[in-house]
Amino acid sequence: MLQKIQAVKGMNDLLPEESGRWEWFEDTVRDVARQYGYRLVRAPVVEPTNLFVRSIGEVTDIVEKEMYSFEDSLNGDKLTLRPELTAGIIRSAIEHSWLHAGPQRVWAMGPVFRHERPQKGRYRQFYQFDVEALGFEGPDVDAEQIVMLARIWKRLGLTDVELEINSIGDAAERRVHREKLIAHFEAHADVLDEDARRRLHSNPLRILDTKNPAMQSMVEAAPKLLDVLGEASLAHFDGLKRLLNEAGLGFRINPRLVRGLDYYNRTVFEWVTPIDGRTLTITGGGRYDGLFEQLGGKPTPGVGFGMGIERVMLKLAEVAAAMPVHAPDAYVAHLDAPAFANEVAERLRDAGKAVVSHAGGGSFKSQMKKADASGARWAIIIGEAERDSRSVTLKPLREEGQQQLISIDQLADAL
Ligand code: ATP
Ligand code: MG
Repeated sequence: MLQKIQAVKGMNDLLPEESGRWEWFEDTVRDVARQYGYRLVRAPVVEPTNLFVRSIGEVTDIVEKEMYSFEDSLNGDKLTLRPELTAGIIRSAIEHSWLHAGPQRVWAMGPVFRHERPQKGRYRQFYQFDVEALGFEGPDVDAEQIVMLARIWKRLGLTDVELEINSIGDAAERRVHREKLIAHFEAHADVLDEDARRRLHSNPLRILDTKNPAMQSMVEAAPKLLDVLGEASLAHFDGLKRLLNEAGLGFRINPRLVRGLDYYNRTVFEWVTPIDGRTLTITGGGRYDGLFEQLGGKPTPGVGFGMGIERVMLKLAEVAAAMPVHAPDAYVAHLDAPAFANEVAERLRDAGKAVVSHAGGGSFKSQMKKADASGARWAIIIGEAERDSRSVTLKPLREEGQQQLISIDQLADAL
């Protein structure tokens, strides 16, 4: 026998028995996005490597070590499997000038790729639900997206999710803070780990994000960006906090929240939740008012978020044991009457019903087992007598009740 081929490490299959929950999730977020006036956009999975280097930033985890990059074997172009969805959307907005008539609210969903060490909730291919509001100064639209997320958690039945927010100001404020930060880290050089020492001058802000326990107290004591914010940034942040308060949303200000991508400014936020005993981020987002210019577009403010769908699925599996399966309304069992069985099934589908028509032959007994296992509410049984009288035997599978012979003209109504 030939050796079996296995999936790439860290890249998962969605199996049929798991897909009900994914479909339910996707239907839910699609519907909420529509409720808030966000429209679907799709950008390619493969983009020029430069797009991500210029947007996400050279000294970030993603660009430094997580991208799947390769050369086009025909022309040598440098290409990358997208590690997130925002950059492609902004590229598309600039390329096709789809903001010419004013601001736009858009969303996207799909796979992204990061070469990380796989573990629970961390994969090399994973899915994001992504929402972007382009051309809005905020903070009203910043709050809108956070409120929208709260609605999504509610629709999904998630209650123990927590919101953390912060403001990381503008570029000038971050420069001032950066000097203070470097001075603080240099004064505590003895506790810096290798990663932090490497980042000290390239991206000191990211050191605040460290998960190294030995560095926690030193990082807690570091100068806070919030303390150096100017009037405009403070007003924006105050506006956001006020809107969230008025919407009745609780939040925690986390001065160390800086996010892993370089393009953010002002508002940053994360939603976190315990999964399997660990606190994981299920959504991260923020404002990126400089990103359009960084990618060669006209100055355009923007704000958005990315949701890690696998992590939400892990959470849903913990809190909701049973998930509505997409069971058919009826299962058609028949003995040697494929044409009539199809006619019956098609008529019911015309009436909007979901109908599985038995394929592959076999006895009535084995077909009825399959009908039962399908979760269908009704079995529709077709033998010679039924076929000859253009009728079917209708048998309830989920509740008590007599089976009855019924003409196919009355069948859709009977269901
Ligand atoms: P982390 O700090 O966990 O690495 P991040 O800051 O890199 O997260 P973002 O770039 O903000 O994550 O991506 C948005 C969301 O996608 C995250 O909040 C998380 O839920 C999810 N996510 C990020 N990386 C992975 C991964 N490797 N596998 C599965 N989900 C992920
Ligand atoms: Mg990461």
